[in-house]
Amino acid sequence: MLSFKTFTPVPKVIFSRGAISFLAALLDEKRSEKGYVVFVIDHFFKANPLNDKVSICNTDLCLFLDTTDEPKTATIDLYADFIKKAYKKLPSAVVGIGGGSTLDTAKALAIMLTNPGQTHEYQGWDLVKIKPVYKIGVPTLSGTGSEVSRTTVLTGPEKKQGINSEYSLFDHVVLDPDLLATVPTQQRFYTGMDCYIHCVESLAGTFLNEFSGAFASKALELCEGIFLHKCDDADLMVASYMGGSAIVYSEVGVCHALSYGISYAFGVHHGLANCVVFNHLEEYYPQYLPYFKEMLIKNQVTLPERPVGIVNDTTLNKMIDITLLMEKPLHNALGPQWKSIFTRDIIGNLYKRILGL
Ligand code: NAD
Ligand code: ZN
Repeated sequence: MLSFKTFTPVPKVIFSRGAISFLAALLDEKRSEKGYVVFVIDHFFKANPLNDKVSICNTDLCLFLDTTDEPKTATIDLYADFIKKAYKKLPSAVVGIGGGSTLDTAKALAIMLTNPGQTHEYQGWDLVKIKPVYKIGVPTLSGTGSEVSRTTVLTGPEKKQGINSEYSLFDHVVLDPDLLATVPTQQRFYTGMDCYIHCVESLAGTFLNEFSGAFASKALELCEGIFLHKCDDADLMVASYMGGSAIVYSEVGVCHALSYGISYAFGVHHGLANCVVFNHLEEYYPQYLPYFKEMLIKNQVTLPERPVGIVNDTTLNKMIDITLLMEKPLHNALGPQWKSIFTRDIIGNLYKRILGL
């Protein structure tokens, strides 16, 4: 049988400055059918409220997500169990307002409200069987592409891996560049570089095709413009969307396969972990490293030389295991024979170099 891949985009997108004010109208359509809405909002907005920009009714549930650590499957289980016990019916929508951590939490929660079992059982490819609750994504930090991707990346008891499924896609996305105004400069850089690296890994991969290549080239050009010349939040939001679209129809590569191990073992955030890894990948992405290093200098970002503490053999082996789980990215980066090229020894030595061991 011929294998094929379908590009499933997010069905509805609103893009404009101030667009978050349209959220109330979008939800009103849904509320009339079923009732309450669950909001998952980055904790930054507890102290800096979005106020009247988001109309939250007193029957709604508002969960402020602590994003100090990246999202865990256990948190989703906690939220889903609470809602199932406290409410007699499902919400009419789940709305995620925040960066990649919050968007992924909202997506996973919408899935776990309708699917049985525990969240970690769905980490992998196409394991979700039941349609989730209607979900809306409102990014307040740009770069991960979570707003457009068919995955929700979570750390579980055994691994950091996404729930890769068409059911992970948002139903509606609201892109409002004004929401990026408060993002700290370093965070903007790290998450922005996540987008840059998505583009590089898509363009340099064996899965590259004209379709994903067009998204990746444009997003890469936008990122270089933003981080080498002039930061523009609207451009960054579009770049994130396009970089995310590129990897929907291609894949990430060696950098992501290695950075997942570091995030899993030491809790280093995705954007920073990617930068720390990418900085050492001359042999895999030689064309792009000079631009990356120039962007570091232009944006006055110094990466830590020893980003984590002591790494014993057990931890190193676990990190190698996590990397080897990233079969599709490694196939994309290194071709079908990747298993014989990217051995445990090579991965271990790369980790030692990256972590300054
Ligand atoms: P994040 O969501 O973890 O947020 C980082 C920090 O930025 C937090 O402290 C948060 O409070 C703050 N923040 C967010 N918006 C802000 C604003 N407007 N003003 C001030 N502060 C703000 O960071 P991220 O880099 O967007 O997301 C990382 C997560 O995304 C990781 O868990 C990663 O694995 C995941 N990810 C998912 C995908 C996907 O396709 N689903 C792709 C790449 C990465
Ligand atoms: Zn990424």
